[in-house]
Amino acid sequence: MSGTSEGPRPAAVAAAGIARPPVTERHTFGRTAAEPPGGHDAHTPGDAHTGAGAHAPCDAQDFRGAFRAAELAMAVIDDEGAVASANDALAVLLDTEPAALTGRAAADLVDLASDSRTWEAYRAVLERRRARFRCTRRLKHPDGRTVWAEVTVVPVPESRGALLSIADISDRRELQARLRHLQMHDPVTRLPNRTLFFERLASALEASAYDGVAYGVSPAYLDRRSYGDGRTGRIGLCYLDLDGFKAVNDTLGHRTGDRLLAAVATRLTECADHDGYTRSGGHLVARLGGDEFAILVEDSTGTEQLADLARSVLTALQRPFDLAGQRLSVSASIGVVERAAEGTTPTGLMQAADTTLYWAKADGKARWTLFDPERNAHRMTRQALTSTLRPAVEREEFVLQYQPLVGMADGAVRGVEALVRWNHPQFGTLAPNRFIGIAEEDGSIVQLGRWVLRTACRQARRWQLDHPHTRPLFVSVNVAVRQVWDSDLVADVAEILAETGLAPQLLQLELTESAVMGSAGRPLQALQALSDMGVRIAIDDFGTGYSNLAYLSRLPVSVLKLDGSFVRGFRYDEGVHPSPADETIVEAMIQLAHRLGLTVTAECVETSGQAARLQRIGCDTGQGWLFSRPVAPERIGEMVAASPRGA
Ligand code: C2E
Ligand code: MG
Ligand code: MG
Repeated sequence: MSGTSEGPRPAAVAAAGIARPPVTERHTFGRTAAEPPGGHDAHTPGDAHTGAGAHAPCDAQDFRGAFRAAELAMAVIDDEGAVASANDALAVLLDTEPAALTGRAAADLVDLASDSRTWEAYRAVLERRRARFRCTRRLKHPDGRTVWAEVTVVPVPESRGALLSIADISDRRELQARLRHLQMHDPVTRLPNRTLFFERLASALEASAYDGVAYGVSPAYLDRRSYGDGRTGRIGLCYLDLDGFKAVNDTLGHRTGDRLLAAVATRLTECADHDGYTRSGGHLVARLGGDEFAILVEDSTGTEQLADLARSVLTALQRPFDLAGQRLSVSASIGVVERAAEGTTPTGLMQAADTTLYWAKADGKARWTLFDPERNAHRMTRQALTSTLRPAVEREEFVLQYQPLVGMADGAVRGVEALVRWNHPQFGTLAPNRFIGIAEEDGSIVQLGRWVLRTACRQARRWQLDHPHTRPLFVSVNVAVRQVWDSDLVADVAEILAETGLAPQLLQLELTESAVMGSAGRPLQALQALSDMGVRIAIDDFGTGYSNLAYLSRLPVSVLKLDGSFVRGFRYDEGVHPSPADETIVEAMIQLAHRLGLTVTAECVETSGQAARLQRIGCDTGQGWLFSRPVAPERIGEMVAASPRGA
């Protein structure tokens, strides 16, 4: 836009009478603007003699002249908003004569009636309910160019009219626009930058949220909307990161790096333009920082469109780049997200894109990956669990269930295994495989494990006190390897037994093979000390690890818990491929264990056929759904009460 004015001039300039008219006569209506005020005869005699060298005060004629001559476009309007008098500058601006403006509604001249808020504010000034009204208007000059005008209306003191002034701020607007462009674009690639990207994203999402409401929506959007073309209510994003760009920068220098980024930007723009050519405005390609780019697809038509776009980008980037004589090849990883705009926030969309890009990288780079809500939910819950686990341990959001350990010979409940569950306020009851691993990783297993041990021992003692005439149940508590390494397990056990009054013989600790294998030093000493105390040590899930019975027998271990997979191999009773090998192996294992002084518990006994077989081959104890699922402590109390006295 070419400069047509020197920017706004404050109304004060004209009102103070400082601005003198140009020497050339420009106007024909009434007096010429060039007529000097001194040429008029409206001075009062007193005015002319107010001291030697003093300025003579202006008369009404002077003011009228100043008004006409002012470079600021102005009009005096009456209380109905009709033009009483317009100055020359206004006439020039509107390409007419001042006289032609008299009587016209000022609101029509500068479009003040098109929206109700503006209209209300303008009327309030005319009716003297408000001291001033100001707005910016985009006017069409009769010569075709656009003029940005700052319109001000103030009441004229001691009169019923108001002064309307219009400053041409086109230059200021243009400067602002240029500055904004600089602020919103990346100098290396000339693409929109992160700020502009987020602005566009936010307004795209807002636009779908406020259906039909023009608040804060870009005009381009409104145009498309009012023509109803191609609105889908969906949004898509390709979030792209170059693979190994850092190496390019490090080995070939930042200049080459910048050239490469600019060349990549060009190819991305070509792909986006090709895909978006039917839409006005096309897709927005932005550089989000470093070697990260984004292609925003407003009104996307589904994942297929985004997948096609991502594919075309990967293909476009496969062609080597020729950068000032240097041939370079790059690849990129792309995270693709496509969804309904409603209910989507910029942060939500970017998080999904970020996660998906991470998957694309983790899956081997040089590929595009589509956002997968399930994969994300898993990651989210793991994240959510990790962050809430520690406080949950402090708040004791956990409960124990107990699963009977039954004598195979007589079917009597000998003991129970304590199994922990997390009553998560958000995710409901969680099984231990969801959080024990996390607790082991972040160390909170130590505190959780102590709570499990104390609660289980207290409960076992409670059953014993409640049922003094039956054989007391032992309680079997799972211990994670970190509890042996990172805490003084021996001291904890001793303290808890003393505190609860439970006999050490009624406590069994379950450790996995891997936890005790190769144990020497501290863990071995701990096992020994516990065993010396009278606490039994069981090897949990036996058979899944080294299964080195000879080695285990040298450790202070007294029970083997055979992993469920062995019992599951017993298929005779179900008539499906009998596999005597499993039974033979288990039988041999049990015999060997007995010879080494160990007792054997079988896990996952689900059918009576399995139980019968286990009993026949000499298994001591069984645990599984056939006998009972893990249950609340009250249920165990009832089982004890129902068992024969002294059993
Ligand atoms: P585990 O110690 O081997 O516990 C036995 C698991 O097998 C339990 O799963 C139990 O519900 C399940 N189970 C019992 N009978 C049957 C059956 O007949 N069929 C089948 N299919 N499954 C059966 P749960 O309660 O989900 O516990 C899983 C694992 O979590 C436990 O395996 C144990 O390793 C760990 N765990 C549980 N509580 C604790 C705890 O307080 N501390 C530690 N460190 N680990 C625990
Ligand atoms: Mg166990
Ligand atoms: Mg087990």
